[in-house]
Amino acid sequence: MRVLLVEDDVSLGEGVCTALRRGAFAVDWVQDGASGLAAARDGGFDLVVLDLGLPHMDGIEAIRRIRAAGNAVPILVLSARERPADRTLGLDVGADDYLGKPFDTAELLARVRALIRRSSGRAQPTLEAGPLRLDPAALTATWHGRGLDLTRREFALLRVLMEQRGRPMARDAIQQHLYGWNEDVASNAVDVHVHQLRRKLEPGAIRTVRGIGYALGDFGLPAP
Ligand code: CA
Repeated sequence: MRVLLVEDDVSLGEGVCTALRRGAFAVDWVQDGASGLAAARDGGFDLVVLDLGLPHMDGIEAIRRIRAAGNAVPILVLSARERPADRTLGLDVGADDYLGKPFDTAELLARVRALIRRSSGRAQPTLEAGPLRLDPAALTATWHGRGLDLTRREFALLRVLMEQRGRPMARDAIQQHLYGWNEDVASNAVDVHVHQLRRKLEPGAIRTVRGIGYALGDFGLPAP
């Protein structure tokens, strides 16, 4: 899952990036409204976390334009503007949720997970597919009831394949969900993570889909 952060406060931005990465999200961070709008237009994000008071374009205007372009990406507003009118305006121009500063990063992560869950049409907080069970909040996964010892990227890869409910995903798309713009990525990084996951689960747990990429194995997939 990939998050776009639009925040001009450097120390706050660093804190949010760290918290999101610990939550196994890939994060791209820009520091003004115009860059946020441009990045959101390029697409590929599962969620946008956006400050309201931003240089080069106010957050409210950025939300307006994102929605005017028909982009349905979930938007979580972060703002020190405590006046109820600002919250109302943010929500009414198309934001999905609001968190006032200062905030607790645990609450931020819980809201991010809830928004992603809702946008993917799930009510259950955990992901299940046959013998595989994944808890995005606890960052834990089990296979036939046995706890799995996964790296952050392996967890993120499993999560994104489970969100696809067995539909194949291209390597490039998977990679976008695992790494931000500024991270060094080996060209075979996704293949390496898939190899490790197959060792930790079983070889058939992740299918290679010729000409496309990878999909979750063919075991008891959840209803779409
Ligand atoms: Ca600001």
